[in-house]
Amino acid sequence: MAADRDAGGLDPATLAVVLGRGDQAEGDPVGGTGVQFTSTYRAGGSRTYGRDHNATWEAFEEVIGALEGGRAVAFASGLAAISAVIEQLSVGAVVVAPGDAYNGTRRLLADLESRRRVVFRPVDITDTSATVAACEGAALLWVETPTNPLMAIADIAALADGAHALGVNVAVDNTFATPLLQQPLALGADVVVHSVTKQIAGHSDIVMGVAIAGTDEMHEALVRRRGLHGAIPGPMETFLALRGVRTLPVRLARAQATAGELARRLEADDRISIVRYPGLPSHPGHELAGRQMAGPGTMLSFDLVGGMEAADALCARVQLCVPATSLGGVETLVERRGKWEGESLLPPALVRLSAGLEDVDDLWRDLDRALG
Ligand code: PLP
Repeated sequence: MAADRDAGGLDPATLAVVLGRGDQAEGDPVGGTGVQFTSTYRAGGSRTYGRDHNATWEAFEEVIGALEGGRAVAFASGLAAISAVIEQLSVGAVVVAPGDAYNGTRRLLADLESRRRVVFRPVDITDTSATVAACEGAALLWVETPTNPLMAIADIAALADGAHALGVNVAVDNTFATPLLQQPLALGADVVVHSVTKQIAGHSDIVMGVAIAGTDEMHEALVRRRGLHGAIPGPMETFLALRGVRTLPVRLARAQATAGELARRLEADDRISIVRYPGLPSHPGHELAGRQMAGPGTMLSFDLVGGMEAADALCARVQLCVPATSLGGVETLVERRGKWEGESLLPPALVRLSAGLEDVDDLWRDLDRALG
């Protein structure tokens, strides 16, 4: 698997291109395995059945594992990867998680709590000492940084130290940062999850997830969960995700530059009351993000002075930006997050923006006009 491969010394941009291509003997396809469509395997080999093995998964897992510095397990969706981590817990286990985590994670924890499966302890994940104090007696600390969509930055290394001192495992949702901007396993986390649907696949055309284990024991537990629950990705989705990750470094660099420029222009605009982007010096997590991340990423959120109606009007008026949920594709997406179930505590005028690959001046003209 990835971490065992000779990844030493190569830049992540190179690893994203060269790994997951098989042995590359003479006459082999340069693209590697391709899409392996099969439900079963001829007996006697290392692969047995399509719910447990697939060569396209293995190629994808090799690349993501190397980028995160662990052993990857591909899942049907980001939420399936999250569930595979949380479902390992015993009945009654306490899970400490950001009160402003991705709403799918919060809704999962609330659902499990309503059936007395786990106890969900929400915290302000930017408050390291309060979060560590809340870990007393817990089984898992769930970290998301930057958070979706409030863009809060958590101190992964300090949280992992504090949680581990109390015998608590640490999981990090690294979707917003991608493995190129933040490496939670190196900062002490035990397991990392991604919605591959987003920047990794990068083209708004599939739903998929991945979890990356820091230890063989965690890797085994994730593989076991995937087999038991059957939350497996399709070979075609996995192939598209693998194709996506090949260009992640260039897409990320371009979209990040655009996000930074839009954040600066929005912050200087008096129709906007606040811009949340870790690359801005005004962001409370700016300094920590600078230490912990290789860049501030492609996501930002901002509130409109005109309130909820103005935010809805912006999303209705854009012509180049796309009004849609999700993020991380080549298209710039905008959405008023407060309209969703479970997001009633968000500022009603908050718009989340996922920067795509369009020209930044074209995007700004569209936003400027749509702001009215
Ligand atoms: N984590 C974060 C931060 C997300 O934004 C999302 C989806 O929006 C998920 C996890 C869930 O991923 P998926 O939609 O692939 O199940």
